[in-house]
Amino acid sequence: MLSVIRWIVQIAVLAVVIFWLTEQHGYVNIVWNDMEEFQISLAFCIIAVFLFALIVHLLLRFFSFLIRGPILWQAKRKLDKLNHGQNLLSQALVALFCGDCAKAKSLAASAGKNIDNTMLANWIQATACSANFDNKTAKEIFGKLAQDSEAAPLGYRGLIEIAMQKKNFPEVDRVVSEYYHVRPGAPWLSRMKMLGAIRHHDYERAAKELKIVENSKIMNEEEAARVGAALSIAISRIKLAHGEVDASIDAARHAIRLRPDWTPAVIQLCEVLVASERYRAAKKIIERSWKDCAHPQLYKIMLSLADSPLEGFKQIEKLCKETPQDNASHIAIADAAIAADIWGEARRNLILCINSGKATKSVFKMLSRLEREERHDERAALIWLTKATDAVPDPSWICTSCNQAHEMWQPNCSVCNEFNTMIWQSAGISDRLRTM
Ligand SMILES: [Zn+2]
Repeated sequence: MLSVIRWIVQIAVLAVVIFWLTEQHGYVNIVWNDMEEFQISLAFCIIAVFLFALIVHLLLRFFSFLIRGPILWQAKRKLDKLNHGQNLLSQALVALFCGDCAKAKSLAASAGKNIDNTMLANWIQATACSANFDNKTAKEIFGKLAQDSEAAPLGYRGLIEIAMQKKNFPEVDRVVSEYYHVRPGAPWLSRMKMLGAIRHHDYERAAKELKIVENSKIMNEEEAARVGAALSIAISRIKLAHGEVDASIDAARHAIRLRPDWTPAVIQLCEVLVASERYRAAKKIIERSWKDCAHPQLYKIMLSLADSPLEGFKQIEKLCKETPQDNASHIAIADAAIAADIWGEARRNLILCINSGKATKSVFKMLSRLEREERHDERAALIWLTKATDAVPDPSWICTSCNQAHEMWQPNCSVCNEFNTMIWQSAGISDRLRTM
């Protein structure tokens, strides 16, 4: 709109100037070779000079265009090529994220021929190759990127991920170490170093790297808490084994702070408190946690702290007061009652377990023991033992990575070495355990 107004104003000014000039009655005399004399009006003379200047200006521009034309044409061709390359690169990226790796690879290769900086095109090609299980080509391209100072993080990360996929952990450690010398402060590297330390069971070093990872905000709070709690339990065990009881308690408490009522953390704290003869504190922890962590190990610790079997039974009864309908409570009371020879109460709780339909092998075994010890009835004991063989197995710590059952929770699975993969596999008696 503004340009239209400006154009109208310019035309109007020109019209006014021409009209004014035609109104001026002056003349200009031109003498040519001292002989001929021309007389032209002043207005015509001014317009002729203006037109002459305009023609000269246009001619200069035309010659300038003729001289600079090839350069401009070349620049335009290059710009078109670059734009084409950028478009191909975008399409390759989209294809990669859509899972069409063959198309992504082909587009990235074409893009690389059209652009000067081929870093992104190479990365797309290598990632597409890796996704297509062509690890040899992927490693070659990532290797070249790793040698480029600007693209090194892309190259190293690709090489590490390939080695991780193949579970080639010595190779992971080697590339991480190499990468560390190139970019020592990279937050992602701290995460890899943390995982490496965990694989080597160096939990204290892993905890230090975890702090860097947390500060870099590359791990969400929930995951950081899960990893931190498991590391703290592992550290607590190591400290206890070295006789550093206070440090062991601190580590166990830290695990509970990170994951309140997490069963492995509660068990670890109770065990270390018992080991340091802080029995009252251990009992308080069990009483406070039983509602959410009804793990058999906890009531067994409570029983072990009682002065007599009868005292133990009373304490377990009190412990289970708030959860009278829970199978874990029935089993705890029955176990304590058998130890204290309170047969009726033991039988009542075990039968309640069976009636709930969630009885496991240990319930039937306890009933067998009861028949033998209370009534000396070997035949009835054998019947319960037979039923035990067909019963649901008792829960145990199961590694979610390799499915191996473990009696005790472990930070790293002793079979597959995966970290923090154990869950208390409930066969029905401890559904409310917060295992993970
Ligand atoms: Zn495992």
